[in-house]
Amino acid sequence: MNKEAWEELHEELASKGVTLVAVSKTKPAGEIQALYDLGQRHFGENYVQELVEKQAELPADIRWHYIGHLQSNKVKDMAAFVHLIHAVDSFKLLTEINKQGLKNSRVIDVLLQMHIADEETKFGLDENEITTLLKQYDDQKDALKNVRICGLMGMATFTDDQTKVRAEFARLHSCFKTLAATSFSGKEYFSIRSMGMSADYKIAIEEGSTMVRIGSMLFGSR
Ligand SMILES: *Cc1c(COP(=O)(O)O)cnc(C)c1O
Repeated sequence: MNKEAWEELHEELASKGVTLVAVSKTKPAGEIQALYDLGQRHFGENYVQELVEKQAELPADIRWHYIGHLQSNKVKDMAAFVHLIHAVDSFKLLTEINKQGLKNSRVIDVLLQMHIADEETKFGLDENEITTLLKQYDDQKDALKNVRICGLMGMATFTDDQTKVRAEFARLHSCFKTLAATSFSGKEYFSIRSMGMSADYKIAIEEGSTMVRIGSMLFGSR
């Protein structure tokens, strides 16, 4: 764990009102505890099993973010404590999260994952699919009170072409603004743009990110 990197990043992001999610996947609990001791509270994981194990042994006030691709049958394992699920990419998953939220007498906050990269392998919804999902959501919203859509998440193409990365982040922000003015008009909680990782977080912030997910810069390479 890199103390200097965290201190610098923490200061930079705090001054901009951007939330830092420290991506601790594959890293042992001891390294997470060390960052926690410096003051870091938001941590991100991308395997449910690993998340559940770490949550059980680390301080209870950590805000755990689930940032990976999520299968419906895994939601129940983390429904009692997860702070934010970043990568919702189907209505089915949304309804399952609602069901588990209800069972745990809580509202689970989520983001919709928007597909902004060129790469086929990256999950997520295009703008039309987001519209379709929100229509389904709207039709059943009285039954979906235990899940709350708080914004969008996206991952840019893995490339050195900064112009391209910038354009992809800008597209997510533009879609966010449209939704904030239409489907989520007046809904203050619809406020999160989760975009930016170690390599591209500065561009992401310039393009309107409010939450960055940073791993290797803090913990070293995996
Ligand atoms: C691993 C991961 C990150 C962090 O990536 P780094 O390059 O290590 O900062 C961010 N977001 C998601 C979805 C990830 O899986």
